Amino acid sequence: MKDTLKHSGMRNKLAEVLIEKGISDKKILDAIRLIPRHFFMDSSFEGHAYQDKAFPIAAGQTISQPYTVAFQSELLQVKPGQKILEIGTGSGYQTAVLLLLRAQVYSIERQLELFKKTKLFFKKMGYRPKKMIFGDGYKGMPEEAPFDSIVVTAGAPETPKALLGQLKVGGRLVIPVGDEDQIMTLYVRTSATEFEKKEFGNFRFVPLLEDKN
Ligand code: SAH
Repeated sequence: MKDTLKHSGMRNKLAEVLIEKGISDKKILDAIRLIPRHFFMDSSFEGHAYQDKAFPIAAGQTISQPYTVAFQSELLQVKPGQKILEIGTGSGYQTAVLLLLRAQVYSIERQLELFKKTKLFFKKMGYRPKKMIFGDGYKGMPEEAPFDSIVVTAGAPETPKALLGQLKVGGRLVIPVGDEDQIMTLYVRTSATEFEKKEFGNFRFVPLLEDKN
């Protein structure tokens, strides 16, 4: 696959669609304009890569809808150099957005096939997350905690306590909570023992499953 002017034209249009839907962070929109999303997908979907839709990737998983990626990224309020944990590497598209925002990204994936595929793809593309592991995101990454932010990119039946515990004071956890539909939820750690919780509308994700596969 190649990245052409036609692709970048489609990315500019996608950014306009996201602006209409309410995304306003310039750095996030720039990342959408730059990242060749068609490289993160199966070549049979190339023609659809710049629609604002989720698509199937390997292992029965999906690459998140661009609007969802942009929305979650906005809630994180990423600042350069911040340490961010992502649960659900998947295609790596959300990871790439965070890298373009100059975060230090740690990412966990529970599907071995996807983990291997995306790790190799990142090497080829020159994307450099700090650490990628094959593991269970319910447990977070205690050996690297605490994090400035944590983003969960699969639907969690409930909020894993381990993730709240791995936030710095002032840190943010962005997580879609629910079974069939999920409510996008933001937790801000306000002290060692307190969290502020806010909810932001309904989304639909593949489920956050326990253990490795
Ligand atoms: N950020 C990804 C979203 C992929 S879909 C992208 O934009 O492509 C969600 C991903 O979460 C899937 O790859 C799924 O395998 C993974 N996942 C589900 N449960 C998990 C868990 N407990 N730990 C880590 N990853 C998990």
